[in-house]
Order: sequence, then C-alpha cells, then structure tokens
Amino acid sequence: MSTTPKPPFRKLRGYAFDPALSLQMDMASINTIVYKIPWEEVAREATKVDDSTKSNQNKDDEIIGLKPGPVGEYLEVIDFDPTVGKFYKPVDLNDSYILAQDGLDPSEGNPQFHQQMVYAVGMTTIKNFERALGRRVIWAPKRELKKNNQKGEYENYVPRLRIYPHALREANAYYSPQKKALLFGYFSSVPANESIQMPASLVFTCLSHDIIAHETTHAILDGMHRHYNEPSNPDVLAFHEAFSDIVALFQHFTFPEVLKNQIRKTRGDLASQNLLGQLAQQFGSAIGSYGSLRDAIGEIDEVTNQWKPKPPNTTDYRTVMEPHGRGSILVAAIFDAFISIYKDRVADLLRIASNGTGILSQGELPSDLVNRLADEASKAADHVLQMCIRALDYCPLLTLRLVTICVPLLRPMSI
Ligand SMILES: [Zn+2]
Repeated sequence: MSTTPKPPFRKLRGYAFDPALSLQMDMASINTIVYKIPWEEVAREATKVDDSTKSNQNKDDEIIGLKPGPVGEYLEVIDFDPTVGKFYKPVDLNDSYILAQDGLDPSEGNPQFHQQMVYAVGMTTIKNFERALGRRVIWAPKRELKKNNQKGEYENYVPRLRIYPHALREANAYYSPQKKALLFGYFSSVPANESIQMPASLVFTCLSHDIIAHETTHAILDGMHRHYNEPSNPDVLAFHEAFSDIVALFQHFTFPEVLKNQIRKTRGDLASQNLLGQLAQQFGSAIGSYGSLRDAIGEIDEVTNQWKPKPPNTTDYRTVMEPHGRGSILVAAIFDAFISIYKDRVADLLRIASNGTGILSQGELPSDLVNRLADEASKAADHVLQMCIRALDYCPLLTLRLVTICVPLLRPMSI
C-alpha cells in the first residue's frame, strides 16, 4: 500500500469550447484546457462477491474506481456506434502513459479522446453541483416492469449515468429519461459561412463542452426533480432547457485563460460580444446559422450579419412557447444579473485605472488589470452558478413557473 496521499484530482486535457475554435489562429492556444476532476482510484472490487447470488449487472455495480470506458462511480461511457455496428476500444485513463500526459491529446479523429472528453466535462458538471449542494448527485431511478407475471412497475436504482458518444448519425444530442443515458450524435456540416466551417466536415456533438454540460445537467435535474420532465405547464420544460444552458454558460468562467482572453478582447465589457455568453458555436455554425446555437446577450442581425445586443422583449413570455426559446428568457435574466454583479465588483478597479473617470483610455489593457477583472468575473460567475444550483432545493416538487424560480434565484444574488 502506497504511503503517498492520493492526488486530489485527475487532470484531463479537452476543448474549452469545441474543436472548431482551434481552427482560429488566435484562439487555438486557449481552446485546449486541462479539466481537473475528482480522482477516482484504479478499479477494484469493493467487497467479496458471492458469485452464485450476484447477477453480472450487480457484480459490475460492486466495482469501485475507474475502469476502461471510462466507467467510474458516476458515469459509464459506452462507445457503440449503431450506424456502423461497432464498439470503439474504451480508453483506459489509468494507463501510465495517458496519466503522465494529462490524458489523451485533443483530437477529432480519435474515438478514445471523445470518450475522455465526455467523461471530463460530465464529471466537471457533477463536481459543480456537489460543491454547491454539499451532497452527492444521485440519478433518477429507472422505472421497469415487474417480472414473473406481476403487474405494475418498480423503481430500479441507477448507479451510473450511461453516455454514448456516437449514438446517432444526426445533428442532435439528448438526455433520455427512459434509458437514463446521454446520447450524442455526429453529422456532416452544412455551414452558412464556409470561411468559418468546412462544408461536409464531420461535427461531433460529444466534443462540445456546452452540449455535454447541458445534457449532463438535464440528467442531474431529473435526479433532483423527477416531475420536471412532465409538461404540466409551458414553463416546466423551458426551465429544464434554461437551467442546462445556465450551467454550461457559467462553467466557461472557470477556464482562466479563456476568461482572460475574452476580457482582453472586450476590454472588460462582458456585455459586448464574447464567447463566454455563447453556447455551442460549432454546432450552430454547422447547422447553417450565422452564429452560435444560442447567445445569452445578443444575436446575429439577419441583414448585416453582424452581432448586436438583444434587448429584453416584454412580449416573449406570452408568445414564445418552444422550450429552448422560452428558456432563453430565464437565461438572459440570469446572465443580466451576473453582468450587473460583475460591473459592481469591478467599478473601483476601472476608476483606479482611469484617473477616477471609470472610462478606460484607448489601447490594450495592462495585464495586471486583465488579471484582476478576470478574477472578479470568475468569482461573480461562481457565485451566480452556486446560487442557481442551491435554488433547486427551494423549488416546488411537482411543477413550477419561471417567475417562481426567479424568486429563490435572484433574491440571494442581491444580498
Ligand atoms: Zn436540452
């Protein structure tokens, strides 16, 4: 038995956003980041298993630690591609060469890296929930039909969320509440702007941080509020979509180099066009949009093809019923609250840096100021993300309205 303390986390390389950003010269260096996720030991059997009484499934549940897949305590990556009828070799993150290099090198052409990416982002999302809630994430149980001619259903404990990185040959990814699994698709791109995205190039949704974080959040929410998959009113499914977007958006602020880069580019103004407020850029571009799949603060003008801020529209709540569009009302409100907190936190820094005017002079920001602004943005974003997650414990059990959720969400932020 080693006397060296176990490492606090496992380092795994991955994309901060998605592979497309690495094609931009100025973004390539910051798009590869190192995810620090909770350390899982090399797999071992937890207790002596009586083989005669345990089914294979149960024996598998007794394994503690990380197995090739990766299959760990929370997640089970199963890389079967039904369109070619093939299992891809599972990555062994405990392989000494892989461990020594902080995981595999990010690559669109390596299925083992795809498995590593979904595991790294999935575990990052789980870690953020557990840190905010102060307890473990538990998946919703599976409802199964009783056996031996008995009528009715029973709830079967789900030890791990299953993740299929290559489940579909289509531009889609989703959480299946029936299978308790995340299914990611891949597809050929049909970009509107061919200078940004190669036409007919393969796009893997399992390589997008935002899509993985979004789908993992759907699964975590299902475990916490099992009736929120039932559309008892138009706000319920909208809330599921909104919350999943909020978690994906605010996880951007935990990537220090990305944050500093965007603060430098926007000169500290996070209410202007920036990557941090956008979701799934490659996916949006690959399905023929001129911008990202969703943007919390702006949109691309259809006439000029230029980004413009999106002011709140008071009629949206009455007219927009599609869950993603309706959910974007809540996302915009939360992001707006974050911008207000951030502006408040950096007002003194801007005054100090501008001889009291609060208006920065022309030119590049000094790196000390960039670092301090990034520090404040990161703290504000973490504060908002944790408040949002904690607010889930104060939500009603059966159904909710967006206005109801705004009270537990926004009240702590104003304190
Ligand atoms: Zn969704």
